Amino acid sequence: IVSIFWFRRDLRLTDNAGLYHALKVGIPVIPLFIYDSDILEQLSDREDRRVQFIHQAIESLAESLQLLGSYLLVKHGKPLEIFSQLIQEKKIAAVYTNHDYEPYAQQRDAAVEHYLNKHAIPFHTYKDQVIFEKSEITKPDGKPYTVFTPYKKRWLNTVNSFYVKSYPTEKYTSQFVTMPPEPLPTLKDLGFRETDLRTPGKSVTEKIIAHYDKTRDYPALAGTSRLSVHLRFGTISIRQTVQLAQKLNVTWLNELIWRDFYHMILYHFPHVESGAFKPAYDYIPWQNNENHFAHWCAGNTGYPLVDAGMRELNVTGFMHNRVRMVVASFLCKHLLIDWRWGEAYFAAKLLDYDLAANNGGWQWAAGSGCDAAPYFRVFSPLAQLQKFDKQYLYVKKWVPEWESSNYSKPLVDHEFARKRAINTYKAALTEY
Ligand code: FAD
Repeated sequence: IVSIFWFRRDLRLTDNAGLYHALKVGIPVIPLFIYDSDILEQLSDREDRRVQFIHQAIESLAESLQLLGSYLLVKHGKPLEIFSQLIQEKKIAAVYTNHDYEPYAQQRDAAVEHYLNKHAIPFHTYKDQVIFEKSEITKPDGKPYTVFTPYKKRWLNTVNSFYVKSYPTEKYTSQFVTMPPEPLPTLKDLGFRETDLRTPGKSVTEKIIAHYDKTRDYPALAGTSRLSVHLRFGTISIRQTVQLAQKLNVTWLNELIWRDFYHMILYHFPHVESGAFKPAYDYIPWQNNENHFAHWCAGNTGYPLVDAGMRELNVTGFMHNRVRMVVASFLCKHLLIDWRWGEAYFAAKLLDYDLAANNGGWQWAAGSGCDAAPYFRVFSPLAQLQKFDKQYLYVKKWVPEWESSNYSKPLVDHEFARKRAINTYKAALTEY
């Protein structure tokens, strides 16, 4: 008889809540990862940096398990079918995993739980990827917060060492089943090709975090942690990350609280996945000019900071947060293109793509989200450049031709676009 621990967005052996609970019981644990064909089939690009990142993380997890005398069971298919196969092959005492708050994942997990329960197998899931989840931080009347600042206040008043303590998973590693390793699927087996993925480091120097509040807005500096992809796939633990933030910098801690906030919003308001948080914003008559969209995607808008950001994204799969705000605002307000187009483009390109944070960021920029920028505040891409890349270091890196005559003319005039955005938003919101 064995138990199963199912890895998803928690691809690590240390400080892993669900894994800790599975190992502690004393029944041998089979660690399992499923390349979910329902997700992989939806990806249009066969050269996908994220798939490659996961593939590398799985290989490294399997190596660590091999060193412990165990192995990683890796499957490719639909989770429900995999579980139905597994229960025929093995006597399973229970399945353990960690919570996932995305709508697709919730449906998938409900179906798996229902199926396992029908076979008298319990499905145990744990909070692991956030510090506070679901309704742990609510307004005094029990309703979810929709504004960040009071949410943050309560988060900070509630947090204590209990919530950020690491799970000592490593104490129980002798509970993994002892098995020789099995060959892992290659990227090719999964239907994907190698990309130019440059894997960001899993740790950050304390100096960067200590100066974060002063450096975080300047895209030319190495002033942010670059841990987003690791937090996304759980190759590092949020509890250990928050411990570091508490020690070194409250401004950085703030960003980690935004992360909890957006997961909480997605959980309570799943309609944000397809529509505006504030429904009035679904009535904005977007112009959706496909030619303008193509210029934005390629980084050819004639606005150097916007173009530098989009080119950085296209080449590396990463974009600095300040620049994400600028390019997103430019798409929605200057070009009057539906924020969902930009959201989908980011979703396809970002290595750290996360539904909750990406959706939150886009709805913030479009003005349609909870606690969003007011619609009449329109970022000036030139003023942002003067403020945050004064010496044009970031722009020179990504748009070397920006001062030459070869550089594109601005796609729209800033003052014209600003007024058009305000008038369009105002008319739509007043009508609603
Ligand atoms: P740091 O500045 O070092 O921050 C530390 C960590 O805090 C990040 O790694 C991330 O996990 C979290 N974090 C920081 N800012 C935010 C935020 N505003 N919301 C939620 N979490 C945050 N972040 C993603 O992880 N995935 C996305 O798909 C994503 N899409 C975005 C889209 C738009 C339009 C905008 C404006 C922001 C988006 N962000 C997203 C938030 C933010 O830009 C990135 O988390 C950050 O740039 C990652 O760099 P870093 O790891 O150096 O972050």
